[in-house]
Amino acid sequence: MYENFGRAALADICDDWVIYRNLEPLDKRVPGLKHAFYDMELRSEQIPRKQDRDYAKAAVWFVNRIQQVRGVRTPIGELLFLGDTLFNDGQAFANMIDESGWRGACFIGAERLDQEPATRIEQETIYIANRWSSLAEWVAALKAQGFRLDASTAVIIDIDKTAIGAKGRNDKVIDRARLAGIYRTMDSVLGEDFDQALYEQHYNELNRARYHLLTADNQDYLAYICMVLNTRLISLDEVVREVESKSLDSFEQFIRWVDSRMMINPSAGEALREVHEAVNGSVRIGDPTPFKRFRRQEFVSTMEHMGNMPDSASVQELLENEITITEEVYQLAQWLKARQCQILCLSDKPDEASRPHPRVSPDLAPLHRAQTHRVGVDLREALSKL
Ligand SMILES: [Mg+2]
Repeated sequence: MYENFGRAALADICDDWVIYRNLEPLDKRVPGLKHAFYDMELRSEQIPRKQDRDYAKAAVWFVNRIQQVRGVRTPIGELLFLGDTLFNDGQAFANMIDESGWRGACFIGAERLDQEPATRIEQETIYIANRWSSLAEWVAALKAQGFRLDASTAVIIDIDKTAIGAKGRNDKVIDRARLAGIYRTMDSVLGEDFDQALYEQHYNELNRARYHLLTADNQDYLAYICMVLNTRLISLDEVVREVESKSLDSFEQFIRWVDSRMMINPSAGEALREVHEAVNGSVRIGDPTPFKRFRRQEFVSTMEHMGNMPDSASVQELLENEITITEEVYQLAQWLKARQCQILCLSDKPDEASRPHPRVSPDLAPLHRAQTHRVGVDLREALSKL
């Protein structure tokens, strides 16, 4: 049922209308959070998380600004939102509707081939499906409900596990690329002393909800903590004990703990020092992506998984080894684009994991310009009947 539709890039559907975690649009005709936070009615240039109210304020502001830059006189009156998580994407959508008063509809997809095709609706406007191909029925229903689907419609598409690496179908490759980035970083920082098995054990333990006060569910924090544990400057037992007795309840506190251990035991902390100082500096200015070195390697390994398979590879081989474009999302986006809808890729993905770094990866294209295979179910016939 899946087919390979050849190669394409995300930019084919959204051009440079891409905004990552820092909320700085790639298309510089629209300013970002740093310069426009006041105009967005935000209190500071602190980067909000996707489910925060402030995130929705910024997103609505971007959509309105893009509409001006597109030179479309009709104001935005409708929002379609495509994502893969109810908690993040669904919440961002609901908040945006609340902020803007627009008419809206949200699609949350996750392929579950072991289940019968099923859909359900939450909060009246969020459509949850276990097939990405249900996008066709979803948009048909919107049309029947009187959605205009024209220049007054904004379409926001999540990137990871939605536009690329479809959840439930191809998302494991995204996770694998991130992990490869982590291990490469650990190898370069810790050298031969890096113990991967130990790292995995620490990661699996600390990635649980009971440690969220310490890790804030932030993958940069987690990678850094596991790196420190790998040097044996602090042990997992100590961390567990401190968390249980509630004497360790924030990442900032963990950093201070590392500081004092490094003072007592300078040689054990030697390999860590550079990363430690960089992470510490970023955390102090409220940067949600403080482990830059890891994210830059994640970008390199992500790009190694884009379009890396030969055109002759089977669909199964593509889905197992390459981060592919989700064909159903691609086709729907092209259909909406032809109807003059505004298309914006909005993602929580760190900028550092999505764009080349002049020193680390000067020869790589940005992620949204990388060519990779389009794989999925053909919806063209269904869409052509609408
Ligand atoms: Mg996602």
